[in-house]
Amino acid sequence: MTYDVINPATEKVVRTIALATEQEADAAIARAAEAFHTWRNVAPADRGRLLRRFAEAVDADLENLAALEVENAGHTIANARWEAGNVRDVLTYYSAAPERLFGKQIPVAGGIDITFQEPLGVVGVIVPWNFPMPIAGWGFAPALAAGNTVVLKPAELTPLTAIRLGELALEAGLPPGVFEVVPGKGTVVGQRFVTHPAVRKVVFTGSTVVGKQIMAGCADQVKQVTLELGGKSANIVFADADLDKAAAQAPYGVFDNAGQDCCARSRILVERSAYDRFLELLEPAVKGFRVGDPSDPETEMGPLISRAQLEQVASYIDNPAIQGTAPTGPGFWFPPTVLAPASDRAVREEIFGPVVAVIPFEDEADALRIANDSEYGLSGSIWTRDTGRALRVGRGVEAGNLSINSNSSVRYSTPFGGYKQSGLGRELGPDALDAFTETKNIFISTED
Ligand code: NAP
Ligand code: MG
Repeated sequence: MTYDVINPATEKVVRTIALATEQEADAAIARAAEAFHTWRNVAPADRGRLLRRFAEAVDADLENLAALEVENAGHTIANARWEAGNVRDVLTYYSAAPERLFGKQIPVAGGIDITFQEPLGVVGVIVPWNFPMPIAGWGFAPALAAGNTVVLKPAELTPLTAIRLGELALEAGLPPGVFEVVPGKGTVVGQRFVTHPAVRKVVFTGSTVVGKQIMAGCADQVKQVTLELGGKSANIVFADADLDKAAAQAPYGVFDNAGQDCCARSRILVERSAYDRFLELLEPAVKGFRVGDPSDPETEMGPLISRAQLEQVASYIDNPAIQGTAPTGPGFWFPPTVLAPASDRAVREEIFGPVVAVIPFEDEADALRIANDSEYGLSGSIWTRDTGRALRVGRGVEAGNLSINSNSSVRYSTPFGGYKQSGLGRELGPDALDAFTETKNIFISTED
């Protein structure tokens, strides 16, 4: 079976990819299981060195990887360069981990007690189409650093950069089988990661619906899971904030990557006394958002990933308050759109497109009530000049990644993940290795 990869900006076929069958997925898992025996025993400094070489290979190929993502996913070239750079940086960050996988020595009676952080075995990473490179790297880099081998399934729509990363790993000297990229269908290859007993953990990023199925499937073998799912994050703007800055930056907090971002601040909550002024300031920022050819470095937003996604996004739009512009003709284009007021459906569901709802609130308690009235809890922002309030509200919002007077959520050195139905577990940061290791405790008697 094959799949035609489509350029979402032109609707032209870029390349035809062979999709792995279940037997081929099994063969890749078997290679990874075999490679685990050697990889886990590679000296820590050597494993770190190989990961740094992998990072250097990604860096040397950065322009090619970025161009592939522009073509395959319609990402702007500026974003795609950042994304390839993020893979390099995450590999570099975790290349220090093999030599720092410390256990503990715990005081006990009658002997010595020590713990070890041991790799799990084969880790299956299932990646969505919205950020093919970074989300892959957040899974495979710490997994490999901890001594696991990895089988990675890219989204059907966006396999090209994952395939290239697999080649770069081999060129960098990672032994065959350590990092296997297996393009294929979620229901075939992804599902096999869940059911195959040699896969000891599944890292899944994608929709909440599929995430629940993965978790239920993993229960059968008590298989570990990390889930990064949807979001409906709130950008809370108080009247005392720097309104010009909050309004100028709000579009980037939701329209980046055409809104196909689980951290998108797709609900802007504005204190009622500043509501009209905020909308006045938001309008030029939305209308001025540069949507077009993703290979142009000046472009701020490209197309949506697919016609299906375009139709899905369009289904939420009824009488927009503000709308920017987008190209017409071939490609899955949708303009930046502000709903004020928005339908209940548009306020609750993850639209995964360049659509934001602006909602007034009365006071701090009301802001928190609205922000937390969601099954999701991934990220969010708070704009205010009152530091005490910023922290109070920050502690009150049920979400894993918040920013104050900023809309940025992702740094490779800090933990990332969701509350409630936005996910389970944390990626990135100093503690990600915990998610890829088992703790073993050994007691040694010192008695005669
Ligand atoms: P999805 O169906 O959850 O797909 C994510 C990944 O899981 C893909 O690699 C997919 O493979 C795979 N998959 C699908 N069904 C599977 C199964 N039964 N077992 C194992 N793996 C499976 O998400 P989507 O269809 O791409 O997007 C649908 C919606 O999900 C979006 O509109 C958006 O709302 C949300 N979403 C959220 C995120 C996020 O980062 N939170 C990312 C992407 C999408 P295939 O590509 O072959 O289907
Ligand atoms: Mg799907």
